[in-house]
Amino acid sequence: MTRRTSKVRAYAPDPGAPGRACDMPECDCAGEYRAPKSRTQLNDYYWFCLEHVREYNSRWDYYKGMTPGEIEANLRADMSWGRPSWPLGRLGSAMIDESMLHDPLDVLGAGGARRAPAQPSVPPELLEPLAVLSLTWPVSLDAAKSRWKELAKQHHPDANGGDRGAEERLKTITLAYAALRDKLTPEPREAAQ
Ligand SMILES: [Zn+2]
Repeated sequence: MTRRTSKVRAYAPDPGAPGRACDMPECDCAGEYRAPKSRTQLNDYYWFCLEHVREYNSRWDYYKGMTPGEIEANLRADMSWGRPSWPLGRLGSAMIDESMLHDPLDVLGAGGARRAPAQPSVPPELLEPLAVLSLTWPVSLDAAKSRWKELAKQHHPDANGGDRGAEERLKTITLAYAALRDKLTPEPREAAQ
């Protein structure tokens, strides 16, 4: 066991909450509950209201690495498909429904396609920058920029007591953003072409 979870996450407002609104788009509730952004960023948090932290935690596996905007878009997509979304995190464990294993109509395939729609393939040189910024491809320049700003603020050494680690993270974040920006900035059109 390499996992070192300090405590069961209790549903009590976090005293360290930054006092801002829930990170779920279009939710005006207070973001009083923290949720790690991903397994690789356990010290990076979203702040959600109680309803949304529950939603997020119950879908941890499914949503890991997605931004609140993507999660919200996903919830909408689920609604428009007229059925509740699967607790996908559980599909990997012992709770697979027998009926799902017999799948002559390729329902699972369709579900899988919906879960991970065909995306333009990620330029290989952007894999790491995207991972550093917890973004998924394709991403807009605006989205990359606002994520960078958000992370840069969090990891600024001034906000971390001059911590050297924060300085390194800030550097990594900024380099990652620079790589994305270069890729996403439309090239000036050549005159003769
Ligand atoms: Zn909320």
